[in-house]
Amino acid sequence: MQLAKVVENKGVKDEKVLDTIKKIPRHLFMDSSFEDHAYQDKAFPIAADQTISQPYTVAFQTEVLQVNKGDMVLEIGTGSGYQTAVLCELGARVYSIERQQELFKRTKLFLSKIGYRPRYLAFGDGYKGLPDYAPFDRIIVTAGAPFVPKPLLSQLKVGGRMVIPVGKDTQVMTLFERKSETEFEKTEFGNFRFVPLLEDRN
Ligand code: SAH
Repeated sequence: MQLAKVVENKGVKDEKVLDTIKKIPRHLFMDSSFEDHAYQDKAFPIAADQTISQPYTVAFQTEVLQVNKGDMVLEIGTGSGYQTAVLCELGARVYSIERQQELFKRTKLFLSKIGYRPRYLAFGDGYKGLPDYAPFDRIIVTAGAPFVPKPLLSQLKVGGRMVIPVGKDTQVMTLFERKSETEFEKTEFGNFRFVPLLEDRN
């Protein structure tokens, strides 16, 4: 069965998001040894002990994010660049941070090779966000955060949305909507399992 259909059967409804899953050749984002598995709804290893997220997780999180064309979107954890490509396909102005230098370099080259043009790919610490480019309409964290980093909340526009998996061993997908300078509305979704959002000292 087609990957987009599998994801749809699991409950993702947003047509624009499903179209990105149809359109993006996921096998290109994976090591050739795993290519045969590219169109299964599973996470797989990429370089530097990291993983490319499960397509359902990518689609679900993107659906909750509600990206509009032209939105300033900050992604934490560039990884393979698959989620970055999804955001680019949705017409977002994408800023993404990766803390593993090997992945950062490789994915930067790779995305430009296959024609995706995020606004800015940063090598750095996602806990800090990108204050020089803030505020953002949307923030998506693609690694499991043991706590919600304050700088990320403060770099969100009023009216903006941040989707972040929060927790140590398993994570609760959590949406923060910024209602005003000081108020955030929090909504929790199901449990997911991500690789950890690592702090500097690790
Ligand atoms: N969006 C990616 C998911 C990769 S897994 C994809 O679609 O493939 C999560 C990524 O977060 C890993 O690449 C990991 O190196 C990165 N990461 C972990 N801690 C981080 C931090 N503090 N700042 C930025 N990136 C981080």
